[in-house]
Amino acid sequence: MTGNGHDRMAPARTRRPDKWAAVSDAEWDDWRWQLSNRLNSCAELAEVIHLTPDEEAGLRAEGKFRVDITPYFASLIDPDDPDCPVRQQVIPRAGELEGFEAMMRDSLAEDEHSPVPGLVHRYPDRVLMLVTTQCASYCRYCTRSRIVGDPHATFSRQQHDAQIDYIRRTPQVRDVLLSGGDPLTLPHKVLDDLLRRLRDIPHVEIIRIGSRVPVFLPQRITDELVTMLRQYHPLWMNIHVNHPKEITPELGRACAKLADAGIPLGNQSVLLAGVNDHPDTIKKLCHELVKIRVRPYYLYQCDLVQGSGHFRTTIAAGLEIMEALRGHTSGYAIPLYIVDLPGGGGKVPVLPNYLISQSPDRAVFRNFEGYISTYVQPTDYKRPRRTRWTAEPTEEPGQKGVSSLLSGEGMTIKPEGWTGTHMRGRAVEEWVNEHDTPEKIDPAPNAQVASGGNGHTPVWQQVN
Ligand code: SF4
Repeated sequence: MTGNGHDRMAPARTRRPDKWAAVSDAEWDDWRWQLSNRLNSCAELAEVIHLTPDEEAGLRAEGKFRVDITPYFASLIDPDDPDCPVRQQVIPRAGELEGFEAMMRDSLAEDEHSPVPGLVHRYPDRVLMLVTTQCASYCRYCTRSRIVGDPHATFSRQQHDAQIDYIRRTPQVRDVLLSGGDPLTLPHKVLDDLLRRLRDIPHVEIIRIGSRVPVFLPQRITDELVTMLRQYHPLWMNIHVNHPKEITPELGRACAKLADAGIPLGNQSVLLAGVNDHPDTIKKLCHELVKIRVRPYYLYQCDLVQGSGHFRTTIAAGLEIMEALRGHTSGYAIPLYIVDLPGGGGKVPVLPNYLISQSPDRAVFRNFEGYISTYVQPTDYKRPRRTRWTAEPTEEPGQKGVSSLLSGEGMTIKPEGWTGTHMRGRAVEEWVNEHDTPEKIDPAPNAQVASGGNGHTPVWQQVN
């Protein structure tokens, strides 16, 4: 099953539907053939799947997110079962365009964090570089459906130049994630050129690629591609598998090629109602991923974007899954469950509560079985101090956050407008003199001042 030699009895290929019975293996294995024979209409899909009225309505809907499915991925679909987890990910249903409370166009506020088009600088030391709007197939719940899929709008050479120029003049960026769309759909030369130019920037330590191509189009993982990629180490890759049904001999072989080239592989799944929201399914998925040398990395809560309404679960469903993993399988097979906070708050991990109580010298935990035990802590431990062996801090302008409160660099983090609200109309000098605040010590360099609601009261924003 793995395609890397561990299970010699496994079939080498996924069975093809009759529609492609006459297609030669050479054609089928050619990624260009796969891309040019993608399915996107009711008529084409009806040749391989018994479409339901709901799916037909979804496929005929005006204004829907792009539909395109590689023949390979279509061959994984159960033609008779609308509950098939592969089918639900790529075939639209009528309800897909329905709105829901809190639905947003750009729920992660990526556009607000873009200093140049297509480059998202959200976290202190890393950037997301959107290099294309094109994918091999299109996921119905896509977080970036606002920009992905338009065949006439993708990122130009000039925009790539501007993205790279920003990275070059921003030395705090040590990690660049290429995504999109799917970077592995770019022409070979374009991807090679982007990677080379990034690798030439001395402060870029690692490059990562986020791609669903190995899943939608494993034929694209050719020797030629892998030979090019391995020139740019350290290069990491995250793939995107949601259900064990997507783990095929073809995907196993593609991952083996990448792993053999020294590219560490991780997997990002999205928690999808009706697709993979059962603990047993995620556990099986994680086990199958580890077998093909892919480390489960993230399990994402569905974002608040159009198309994801009927896929969304509760946070409790995600926690139940995490409860069923920790202790029940090896740590390597357990992803982090992540909520990417709406409004651009970034990723936060969520996990069941294992620390159940603590005193100054004792911490009480429960394990996955419900066994409760005490860790006795030292009473003479002192905070770590800097020595010549301590690593230098990295630059995180304006983003030190809660860790800066623990290290004593700050005392407070205030919601926007907090200070102005509590000034209750008094003059700035009067208020500062009355309060023992960081602003009292050094108001000017640290505070951004904006006009308040009454026209003369300043509203002081985040002080860091
Ligand atoms: S592969 Fe990624 S970017 Fe492309 S449609 Fe799927 S989720 Fe969106």
